[in-house]
Amino acid sequence: MTPDELKALVRTVPDFPAPGILFRDITTLISHGAGLAASIGHLAQMAKQAGAAAIAGMEARGFIFGAAVAAHMGLGFVPVRKPGKLPVKTIGIDYALEYGRDRLEIDPTAIPEGQRVVIIDDLIATGGTALAAAELLRMAGASVTHALFVIDLPDLHGAARLRDAGLTVEALMD
Ligand code: 5GP
Repeated sequence: MTPDELKALVRTVPDFPAPGILFRDITTLISHGAGLAASIGHLAQMAKQAGAAAIAGMEARGFIFGAAVAAHMGLGFVPVRKPGKLPVKTIGIDYALEYGRDRLEIDPTAIPEGQRVVIIDDLIATGGTALAAAELLRMAGASVTHALFVIDLPDLHGAARLRDAGLTVEALMD
């Protein structure tokens, strides 16, 4: 399936998680077998071009796409987790949300020094989550040059923020 055909499988839900927000819901994309397979195939192609030696994905929807791409490529997967979830000594990073703050954590022993880790998430909005993940992975010794997404919301300029920070950004659809 082409990216345009995949785009038709994304459902838009008004007023979620708060009034006035249009939520782009990937549930309908991943419940479609050919749609899921094609999404993973396209992302894996992009990750291969990026020279990925491992894939990192953000909790929770980044796990769906990131882990599938990693398995498809025969690579390892690094979960970038919400705080307090990992049972070992973690490193973490706090970052600003539109309202409030959040935190991401990883197991630093999951990444060999200098390993090229490609970030995958379902969607980039302001780019805050992906920028924090890139910084955290770098703190653990990763070489992070590429971030891949199923959906980019260009009006929120997240991809531009990541590019300003020196990352290559690609998405299957806007
Ligand atoms: P950002 O940090 O770029 O502002 O927000 C991106 C993060 O929030 C991603 O981890 C993504 O899963 C989640 N997110 C924000 N808005 C949406 C949306 O409309 N749909 C989906 N599926 N995820 C969203």
